[in-house]
Amino acid sequence: MKSWIELDEERLRGNFNVLATVASGGTVLAVVKANAYGHGLEPSARVLAQAGVEWLGVTGVEEGVRVRAVLSECGITTEAQLKVLVMCGISEEDAPVVVAQRLTPVVWTVEQVRWLVTALHQQDAGGSLRVHVEVDSGMSRQGVKPGNALQAVLAAIAGANGLRLDGVMTHFANAEVANSTQTAAQRKAFEGAVQQVWAAGVVPGWLSVGNTSGIDLLDGSEDLLAWVKRLAGGVGARALVRTGLALYGYRLGLEGAGVVASRLQDRVLPVMTWKAKVIGVEEVSAGAVVGYNGTYRAERPMRLALVAAGYADGLRRELSSTNAKAGGWMMVRGQRAAIVGRISMNLTTVDVTEIAEVRVGDDAVLLGEGITAEDHARLASTIAYEIVCGVR
Ligand SMILES: *Cc1c(COP(=O)(O)O)cnc(C)c1O
Repeated sequence: MKSWIELDEERLRGNFNVLATVASGGTVLAVVKANAYGHGLEPSARVLAQAGVEWLGVTGVEEGVRVRAVLSECGITTEAQLKVLVMCGISEEDAPVVVAQRLTPVVWTVEQVRWLVTALHQQDAGGSLRVHVEVDSGMSRQGVKPGNALQAVLAAIAGANGLRLDGVMTHFANAEVANSTQTAAQRKAFEGAVQQVWAAGVVPGWLSVGNTSGIDLLDGSEDLLAWVKRLAGGVGARALVRTGLALYGYRLGLEGAGVVASRLQDRVLPVMTWKAKVIGVEEVSAGAVVGYNGTYRAERPMRLALVAAGYADGLRRELSSTNAKAGGWMMVRGQRAAIVGRISMNLTTVDVTEIAEVRVGDDAVLLGEGITAEDHARLASTIAYEIVCGVR
């Protein structure tokens, strides 16, 4: 049997409510991209919809279609009830799907605008299609640069029958770093872009920024929420703050000497419990070597449990151990069971010598009470994002 995930729906709702409270005066967009950060797109979207989210964020149209399907099962069928932002852009083939499914695409090129206009025309869709324009304020990833390029995109939207500029967004590269000069420069660039949109005679409904760290960090300068609410208020728009990781109960460590406080620490709680079955229990004598390449040798008689999960399921191989170097652990019957030797593709061996009455058929907890994605991330030299997204 494959490993599986149990979603703590109450915690997911609770985390959303914490974010909504923290963002007071701003609207929280709940990001469910990447299969809801490994938590399952459909169940997560359903819980968030029932918790009253106004916006969900996905990567591409394929996820957008899946979200619309699950929403319609919940009786949510219109954009007025819930809007779905397609955050990573669209291709020409995506445009008809965007129109048919009433998704809100993020665009940043004149070409993308043309594809949407063609699709609108072909489908003879009534009403107007809202689009958000992403401004590249200095991350050099996605978005249009302020100035002539932005002017061209704005003109294309203004000249397109049926398209409406509903939002202007940007993304920060350094949001977890206190008093970042890059963040300050990005804010300045975004303020300029918003002025440019305003000067072009367009009044967007939303100014959209942020991620978990942006909401989390207090560093003594005007915080992100106060800043975006002020900026939005100035142009008659509403502030939209996009959050993913914190919804699922995790956050990044804040960095830099200027950190004053975290808004989210100890307030959001992990939502995912990841489990797999114990499929074998075996006694080995001192001297037995365990797993590939014999990197671990039993120094005393041990009882080992075989768990049906490995790196193919997303359990990072960096959590393997040797006699000289401890690795990760799982929770078995509420106690820590150290990973012994190398993690295999679909199997992992853990030490249950000190845990009474472990039996075939028991659950081993890979992530959850007693072991967090931060523990895995530390051992695998990565971030909690990559750990939860990697769970399959
Ligand atoms: C993923 C994503 C977010 C959410 O980031 P978190 O750090 O997980 O809160 C926000 N905005 C955009 C554009 C994203 O792609």
